[in-house]
Amino acid sequence: SSNRKEEIKNEAKERNVRFLRLMFTDIDGVIKNVEVPISQLDKVMDNEMAFDGSSIDGFVEIDQSDMKLHPDLDTWLIFPWELDSSDGRIARFICDVYMPTGEPFDGDPRSNLKRVLNEMEHMGFTEFNLGPEPEFFLFKLDEHGNPSKNLNDHGGYFDLAPTDLAENCRRDIVLELEALGFEIEASHHEAAPGQHEIDWKYADAVEACDNIQTFKLIVKTVARKHGLHATFMPKPIEEISGSGMHFNMSLFKDGKNAFFDESNEDGLSTTAYQFIAGLLDHAQAYTAICNPIINSYKRLTPGFEAPVYVAWSGTNRTPLIRVPASRGQSTRVELRSVDPTANPYLALAVLLKAGMKGIAEAKSAPSPVNQNIYNMNQFERDENQIQSLPKTLVEALEALKGDETIKDAIGHHIFERFVAAKEADWRKYSTAVSQYEMDRYFKLY
Ligand code: ADP
Ligand code: MG
Ligand code: MG
Ligand code: MG
Ligand code: MG
Repeated sequence: SSNRKEEIKNEAKERNVRFLRLMFTDIDGVIKNVEVPISQLDKVMDNEMAFDGSSIDGFVEIDQSDMKLHPDLDTWLIFPWELDSSDGRIARFICDVYMPTGEPFDGDPRSNLKRVLNEMEHMGFTEFNLGPEPEFFLFKLDEHGNPSKNLNDHGGYFDLAPTDLAENCRRDIVLELEALGFEIEASHHEAAPGQHEIDWKYADAVEACDNIQTFKLIVKTVARKHGLHATFMPKPIEEISGSGMHFNMSLFKDGKNAFFDESNEDGLSTTAYQFIAGLLDHAQAYTAICNPIINSYKRLTPGFEAPVYVAWSGTNRTPLIRVPASRGQSTRVELRSVDPTANPYLALAVLLKAGMKGIAEAKSAPSPVNQNIYNMNQFERDENQIQSLPKTLVEALEALKGDETIKDAIGHHIFERFVAAKEADWRKYSTAVSQYEMDRYFKLY
């Protein structure tokens, strides 16, 4: 609206904003920026900002290079730090990517999510909420400012100073996030040394994904100021826990939680059960999207509280899906496989689609598995029909290729690019001779 535009222009002037960053997320989940001087603000807000899409890896062919960025005015934000050269500031908009023809671009994950959310609205739901729990590691920078493999501390779960040397860094991250409007619910040291988790209040799908992208940027920026390297790589160190990003999800209908039903003994609605059933049905295929890099599968192994088996539970933390005890507006389904390298827009699109499929087909969820699945043997797992998650990225890609529902959720363009890029990565990985092989075979044979 023109009112909002005036407000933004005034604020830019008052706070001495000099540059404007137009951000969007590519298929790999990486944030891309086009930076323009603030003099372009009007043009930007009129959706007139063009950029060369072919310069972005895996985005478009040369013949579609004249792409347009449509800023989402709700994402206007002035970064807390000042420019080095002056007391000016940088602001940003998160944008949707449009074709020169005026259509949303099929390869834009944010626009794709909006498409799937539209299907959700046709089913009568009004919001799809996400509360993510991202984990990350802090490593020391060396004397040249390059990331080293030295962890920043030797703390453990919920430890406080003096073992938690990163506490100041994490506190600064929280302060900056709060200054940007995040409602932080928890911030703590995680199970592994050097590992942290920060949780904030859930939001509706697109905003929640935008928040994840902003969060990663802030974490990395603040860590650098503390002489640290923050990494969201799922398993940087073999012997200790990896980093996940649990997804807490719920569907609302006109502000009321559709997963909650007082009249049921356990407080869960039929919709919640059907959603869980859909999530279990399509787990093999969406794993490729929720755990999109080769390293993701080194986290999804037994022994570190990361899920390995496709099952759900209300009580224990070993299965793929947990239903936390909270009820009322906080009734939610927690998917524990997702890791922070997932493109959040793509991950939410596939998970929503899987859940909606369960609802549309009125699927019934299997019984919850309330014992520790790690302690079951294969026979017991078979008896309970408990499948394993894919063990490698290629296995997950094969499952993705065979699941029309999940393919639909990302659309043809993204599917093709995603699979091609991942297979290329896998080919390089599987032909590289690793340190492990040298150590194991070089002298032996
Ligand atoms: P855990 O017990 O798994 O560590 P946390 O308390 O760290 O869980 O995180 C819970 C997350 O769930 C928070 O981001 C919170 O805002 C979110 N959440 C609460 N209610 C809902 C809801 N109805 N829908 C989606 N997310 C929710
Ligand atoms: Mg948590
Ligand atoms: Mg936790
Ligand atoms: Mg955690
Ligand atoms: Mg959790």
